[in-house]
Amino acid sequence: MSLPKPPYRRIATEEGWATPEMMQMYIDVLNKKSINDPGFYSLWGFFGLSQAPRARDLMARVQDLEERRLSDMDATGIDLQLLMLTSPGVQIFDTETAKALAISTNDQLHEAIKKHPSRYAGLCAVAPQDPAAAAKEMERAVKVLGLKGVVINSHTQGQYLDDEKYWPIFEAAEALDVPIYIHPNTPSPQMIEPFLSRCLDAAIYGFAAETGLHALRLIVSGVFDRFPKLKIVLGHLGEGLPFWLYRIDFMHGGIVRANRSEGVKPLKRKPSEYLRENFWYTNSGMAWEPSVSFVQNLMGFDRVMYAMDYPYQFLSEEVSAMDNLPITDEQKKMFFQTNAENLFKL
Ligand code: MN
Repeated sequence: MSLPKPPYRRIATEEGWATPEMMQMYIDVLNKKSINDPGFYSLWGFFGLSQAPRARDLMARVQDLEERRLSDMDATGIDLQLLMLTSPGVQIFDTETAKALAISTNDQLHEAIKKHPSRYAGLCAVAPQDPAAAAKEMERAVKVLGLKGVVINSHTQGQYLDDEKYWPIFEAAEALDVPIYIHPNTPSPQMIEPFLSRCLDAAIYGFAAETGLHALRLIVSGVFDRFPKLKIVLGHLGEGLPFWLYRIDFMHGGIVRANRSEGVKPLKRKPSEYLRENFWYTNSGMAWEPSVSFVQNLMGFDRVMYAMDYPYQFLSEEVSAMDNLPITDEQKKMFFQTNAENLFKL
């Protein structure tokens, strides 16, 4: 069954994929327990090792960039997928491994897009472990390979991008005028323990706690005063932050006035202003009218984009629900098509 053709292109902006090479490396890590990241074992232990049909099915879909994915896109009315290396990407590996894997991944993504230019666009992967090399790879990926920005899967081995050592990445993104998609990861080893015993560490809630925290760290550390043109994309309708807008501003003002910490300096704008001016949002995983409408009205119809989160949340009824949002035809076209075209220069 396919959906009726609407008067817009459906562009899905947070679509996951992985190379067979990386999936094999994940399985090796799972078998050898060679890294310290409880979230990785919790998430990929199921997908990577379980014989459950859902796990096997997902492992097949996430690695496919040919017939299977294209027919899934046709079945759900998706014209174009913006592909990004699935979480946690290369960020769990040692620096040299991660750098090499990012390069080979970006080359493979480029080949797939070259083969299906009307169906795919993509963001590059980088290894934040080496910020200067990450900046260099971003430049190659954008200028030579034609990729449209970069995905960073939240923390890198418990470290967050507000640390000044990562600033070459922001400098490169600003200079290349491409967005950084901060995609979720499971909570860092420092914060994951109370999530684990109740299975709250991944998409049900832990992703949002981790990634919302990451975005707030960027804001209050002053990253956007240093890089005022920086463009950040958050999925899942902003990982809960739009709902918190008023209280974040109110409390941040008090913290600054009281001079509570070296880590919090006065900012040029209110936190809500950075969230409105430097951030874009996708509705990945949140195909629910009350939340989508809330964020559209609060952040602006030009800031919210459609995403499916294939292959994890692959449901045609969610596409229909978004086709039926109670907004104007023009706003619907912005949501599904033109916001993504403009931001990612598709
Ligand atoms: Mn996702």
